[in-house]
Amino acid sequence: MQAELEQLLVLQDRQQKIRHIEAETKTLPQQRKSLDAQLAANLAALEAAKQKLRQIEVDRKKLELDANTRRDSIAKLRTQQYETRKNEEFRAIGHEIERYEKEIQQIEDHELELMEQAEQVKGDVASEEKHAATARESVARQLADLEQKGTTLSARLEELARERQQIADAIDEDLLSRFDRLFASKGDAAVVALEHEVCTGCHMKVTTQTAHRVKSGKEIVSCEQCGRILYSAE
Ligand SMILES: [Zn+2]
Repeated sequence: MQAELEQLLVLQDRQQKIRHIEAETKTLPQQRKSLDAQLAANLAALEAAKQKLRQIEVDRKKLELDANTRRDSIAKLRTQQYETRKNEEFRAIGHEIERYEKEIQQIEDHELELMEQAEQVKGDVASEEKHAATARESVARQLADLEQKGTTLSARLEELARERQQIADAIDEDLLSRFDRLFASKGDAAVVALEHEVCTGCHMKVTTQTAHRVKSGKEIVSCEQCGRILYSAE
């Protein structure tokens, strides 16, 4: 193979590696973001459980106040009851007291339910706390790994860029700019093998004349379909 083509292939190899590393580097912020989101979701679940517990406590206190209001009413009614001399009024007050006592009973039942709920939610809070702690640890570790990966990739990128420059410096300027244009526009490769008269870039058969020129290896030949530079694989 011509020395020029060999140089171009090495250059292409470095540029493909550079492209690959750049693409990988670009995914790092998204990976970081999704780790942050994962942690935030865990913390939100913990906060939701805590909020539920606080709400139960608020509801329970309100019930306690409701029961106390009725207890006060009952005390007042009892005083009234002792003071009255009318049997009918005595009985009517007695009924009212009973009604309040029933309501207090219901409120206390409800309070008990809330206390049971609170116990369950306390368990949820504890398990969410455990989850959040695990997530915090794992996310921190993964973020550190990403950081390390970023450093490694950028060091590798610098190294490849240096190598690429050295190779490029040795290539004819016109040929280099032809290569650069092709490499940028094709997205995969600028220099491809010709196998059995088929361009491996666009998978089209080239003319016999073109195939012959490629095989003779005396000049830089392009595929007449896609424009990629061809080298003979045979
Ligand atoms: Zn082609």
